[in-house]
Amino acid sequence: LRYHVDGELVPASRATVRVDDRGFRYGDAAFETLRAYGGTIFEWDAHAARLEATCDALELTHGLSRADLLSRIDETLSANDLSDAYVRLSITRGVQPGKLTPDPDVDPTVVVYVGSLPRGGLEGNPVWDGPAALETVDTRRIPNDAVPASAKTHNYLNGILARQELESGDEALLCDGEGYAAEGATSNVFFVEDGALYTPATDGPVLPGITRRVVLECAADAGIPVEEGRYRPERLRDADRVFLTNTTWELRPVASVDGVAIERDDRVDDDPLETLSRMYDERVEDRCY
Ligand code: PLP
Repeated sequence: LRYHVDGELVPASRATVRVDDRGFRYGDAAFETLRAYGGTIFEWDAHAARLEATCDALELTHGLSRADLLSRIDETLSANDLSDAYVRLSITRGVQPGKLTPDPDVDPTVVVYVGSLPRGGLEGNPVWDGPAALETVDTRRIPNDAVPASAKTHNYLNGILARQELESGDEALLCDGEGYAAEGATSNVFFVEDGALYTPATDGPVLPGITRRVVLECAADAGIPVEEGRYRPERLRDADRVFLTNTTWELRPVASVDGVAIERDDRVDDDPLETLSRMYDERVEDRCY
């Protein structure tokens, strides 16, 4: 594989950043995880807008246009002959003298990292290992008055600590400071109750996931009632359906919350998760092929 580093395609084994790069030293960097289907980035404009919002939050001026960034991604996909792929785009504040206060003069380090990733779906999705076991952890989602949760930065220590805390689950449910469910370590969370869809609102410490947004768009089209609010983890344990979303997983069912099995009501024909997953797949088809 070849990755794009600082404007050049280099073999993976030689794709390195310097030890005095601020992205390495301090996590002073913005990134996006994207997905290419049939060679086209799904929801590029939404990812580009979130990246811009992250850079604004960090006051990171990198001087690269959306078109510039997308052409680096496209070049990397073509150079590797990839069509269904995982793509990670990182922009660091670059190499600067070793002091915390950033220099306003930024020569960013831009990295495009790719890997093959087969197309997903709800049945036999090759990306995840079956439905998730969600487990509420004590690690709290960093509140919005620190680095805003809406910023996608290289600092994933919050999520890493949460994952390390897992006892038997495979995704951590992080709550806000008052104990309301916020999100997974790398995912947004949804639940279904009596045919309606619920998800923690993004005015709380929640990353505004692009997959989350597409799912809400699908729910609106399907006429599924939606509420964005604040919910205790107990609400999820009692739900008819729980699922997680992110760009790589798409929609991933949750089998249990804190060891409590999520039982689907077999008397109800319509499964909103199946409907939403199908609609998500249709959007991938329409927008990428
Ligand atoms: N929340 C967190 C903390 C994440 O890291 C991610 C993605 O990795 C998400 C939510 C889901 O975001 P998206 O759907 O844009 O991938």
